Amino acid sequence: QAFLGLVHAAMQRNKGNGKACALIEFGFKGVPRIAGALGRHASDYALSSLAARLNQHQSAEIVIGRIDTWSFAAFLPDLGDPLVALSTAKKFIALLSEPLDWVDRKIKLEVAAGVALSGPQIEDATTLLEAASMAIKTASQPGGPSYAFFDPSLAKAARRKLELHGIIQEGLEQDWFRLQYQPVYHSESAQLVSFEALARLHHPTQGLISPFEFIPIAEETGLITKLGSWALKEACRVAAQWPADLQIAVNISPDQFYTGTLLAEVHQAIAQTSIPAYRLELEVTESTLLKDSDVVLQQLNALRELGCSIVLDDFGTGYSSLSYLWKFPFSKLKIDRSFVQAADNTAAVRAMVRSIIDLARNLGLKTTAEGIETIAQAKTLRTFGCDFIQGYLTGRPQNETDVAAIILKNFAEQLEEANANLRSERIMIGYKATG
Ligand code: C2E
Ligand code: CA
Ligand code: CA
Repeated sequence: QAFLGLVHAAMQRNKGNGKACALIEFGFKGVPRIAGALGRHASDYALSSLAARLNQHQSAEIVIGRIDTWSFAAFLPDLGDPLVALSTAKKFIALLSEPLDWVDRKIKLEVAAGVALSGPQIEDATTLLEAASMAIKTASQPGGPSYAFFDPSLAKAARRKLELHGIIQEGLEQDWFRLQYQPVYHSESAQLVSFEALARLHHPTQGLISPFEFIPIAEETGLITKLGSWALKEACRVAAQWPADLQIAVNISPDQFYTGTLLAEVHQAIAQTSIPAYRLELEVTESTLLKDSDVVLQQLNALRELGCSIVLDDFGTGYSSLSYLWKFPFSKLKIDRSFVQAADNTAAVRAMVRSIIDLARNLGLKTTAEGIETIAQAKTLRTFGCDFIQGYLTGRPQNETDVAAIILKNFAEQLEEANANLRSERIMIGYKATG
């Protein structure tokens, strides 16, 4: 491309003299909306008018170029002061934000500008352009200013993303993933009722990588469907070795509902391990329900018919729309950790947690409180009528081999309690006999 060639040549020229170049990329929001509402002619017209506005400012100091259909760039080949780049970006944002006349209407597009400067890390045109495009993403975030300078930490994050993509791929082939199991207890009886399966990634040299890091990237890159299938099978395999009254909860990502194979996979996992369907809980988040409700709803109904429980995870974050509670076949609701923790010092949050539990009960749903770390939290939730508790207080996620110890300990405690009940019953009977 001619524009990129020009950028590159200027960067080469400047390498010797220590001067910087700046690339400002402009992006527009709302284009599909305009094309949808007013037609392709309107969006084409908007495009050419904006290009014309920019081109008027073409000069020796400012080179205007086209990046792709809906983005333009201004290149400043000899930048003395970086602030000039900023003021140019602001000036052009104002210019491009001016409404356009279209028949009897005005078209207004939201503009975002990403600014990148050449330097020791950025020595060629492609890198400079990539940097400006990354900055545009920051500038497009709602609430912030509509321009942003490229931040090298963005590049670092992007590199890490790329690296993790490779690691997840390799990990799936090389068997680097493991599941850990976090116990869930009945809040009244303190009886062990289930475990939640949580994925862990063990890298041979980088060590343990957190799911907070790899799950979003697996979801972004589509690898989650493979990882999710594996987790489902593995969790059922392990749960098949536990006593039959213990359930196993598996997290299911939105994409898994779009492969068309989820139902078959669940079927297969329970058939191969011969655990009954009612022992399997599938945890979904609100993001699953947002996308295409019908496709999801059908599968959730089918899974429920199969006998599995469907759990709404992380309730209290996101939109927490109440309509989900009756539109989808949930049997349980998990109250998010952030909510449980905020309830500690905020009376309003406590009132909300209590109301959510009441609401769930009135709808016939069970509740689990997540992230219980203190005895006080456990007591509060129990008083509110929450059915189950899960958190570091009662047990961290454990390896497969350590789960047996938890199960045994719980069994011993139940036995102990049964004996104690028997003893007190005998005493009571004794009282009655003598009294
Ligand atoms: P989640 O489903 O909300 O799982 C609960 C997370 O809270 C787990 O984090 C757990 O270790 C942590 N946690 C439990 N109790 C406490 C507590 O008392 N205090 C604190 N601070 N944290 C507690 P983890 O294992 O790091 O997993 C993070 C998230 O990654 C999960 O959140 C889940 O959304 C996702 N994830 C993990 N494994 C899988 C998987 O196999 N498939 C999918 N789709 N997502 C998964
Ligand atoms: Ca979960
Ligand atoms: Ca959760």
